[in-house]
Amino acid sequence: MAANGFIDKARITVRAGDGGGGAVAFHREKYVAAGGPDGGDGGRGGDIVLKVDEHMSTLMDFRYKRKYVAQNGFPGQGKRCSGKDGETLTIRVPRGTLVRDTETGEIICDMAGQDTFVLCKGGRGGWGNQHFATPTRQVPHFAKAGLPGQVRDVVLELKLLADVGLVGFPNVGKSTLLSVVTRANPKIANYHFTTLSPNLGVVALEEGTSFVLADIPGIIEGASEGAGLGHDFLRHIDRCRLLIHIVDVSGSEGRDPVEDFEAINAELRQYSPELADRPMIVAGNKVDIAENREGLETLKAHVEKLGLPFFELSAAAHQGTTELMWEAARRLQDLPPITVYESTYVERPPEIDTSEDLEIEVEDGEWFVDGPWLRQLMANVNFSDFESRSWFERKLRESGLYQRLEDMGIQDGDTICLYNLEFEYQK
Ligand code: GDP
Ligand code: MG
Repeated sequence: MAANGFIDKARITVRAGDGGGGAVAFHREKYVAAGGPDGGDGGRGGDIVLKVDEHMSTLMDFRYKRKYVAQNGFPGQGKRCSGKDGETLTIRVPRGTLVRDTETGEIICDMAGQDTFVLCKGGRGGWGNQHFATPTRQVPHFAKAGLPGQVRDVVLELKLLADVGLVGFPNVGKSTLLSVVTRANPKIANYHFTTLSPNLGVVALEEGTSFVLADIPGIIEGASEGAGLGHDFLRHIDRCRLLIHIVDVSGSEGRDPVEDFEAINAELRQYSPELADRPMIVAGNKVDIAENREGLETLKAHVEKLGLPFFELSAAAHQGTTELMWEAARRLQDLPPITVYESTYVERPPEIDTSEDLEIEVEDGEWFVDGPWLRQLMANVNFSDFESRSWFERKLRESGLYQRLEDMGIQDGDTICLYNLEFEYQK
């Protein structure tokens, strides 16, 4: 794949910005002795957003740049001034990029049906001390640090969006067919492995009838066991609604068409049984240079016994190409649309080590709790989700925080303040 720089798989780490810290500041005015607290909030950390760029066709940009970090939120300031939010970092990807969690392989999103996706959320900004003034505590020295931004390690995988995929051995004429029926300009040459990157073209038959055709590098025998480069490219026809299987029936290379046909099918099956069952049209190519019709007829009988439609073709001589494309268009009318993958990703709470003691400050029945792991915990909880809240509650309990508060004399009805979360303590 590296031969011509075509990259269709890449692993990157992405990190949203941390929230800015809240400010501890006090209102100052001439002739006013003790002003009130007016420390503003920290800004939100910047998100990491994926955006489809229609002009991109490979994941080459990710070959050298693997780490993406969005800007942190800015700290709050006095006079109730909030810190500026960190800027969103936009990462451009080709349409059809599938994003998976590196560890589990789960699909986080498919950039086929959507144009943008927030991959990591920036951390919330911390509260400035303006929030912590109460009638009794007029001079709060508390302000809160911002919460950390989300971090992810993901694999980007390009799966092209094409209605019809061409499959077949190298050199059978796939690229030739693509160049004849579309405006695409694939490399064509009379030796194996010429095509090192997939090519797409639009087949426009008449007003309102068109589809996208993909030519992927040839599959060779043993590729599904990692012996060649074919297997890797099969992912580009994963989404195809229909396959056109091209077989060289000319006998010019001393090949047996039925054997070739079955070898490719075996490869498809090994890669994915589901792909092997995809609707298929078979085309016997290079009939113009066939010395006799033997190869063609044997393959035709074999294929028709399997219930598949068969076409004679000479891609180079433009014979049978239009008929084949019309048949493809007719079949597509009855087939389901291009596959867009559903997310299978289940957000799991990160491992958080709660063994380190938290800082606790108490003033007039309000308990302010702080510490690095608590910040991380807060950044990962979704308070509108019951399970997430239970996880949060469990973590706090496990950490021994409540026990410590008890030991320090917390009373029923006191307030516990964790960043911008305040709740009443009840035994
Ligand atoms: P691919 O590897 O399957 O993409 O095959 P190519 O399209 O690159 O074609 C391989 C060779 O076969 C090239 O030299 C083409 O000119 C030739 N070829 C393709 N189709 C035909 C055909 O219908 N008739 C003849 N005579 N040659 C063909
Ligand atoms: Mg080719």
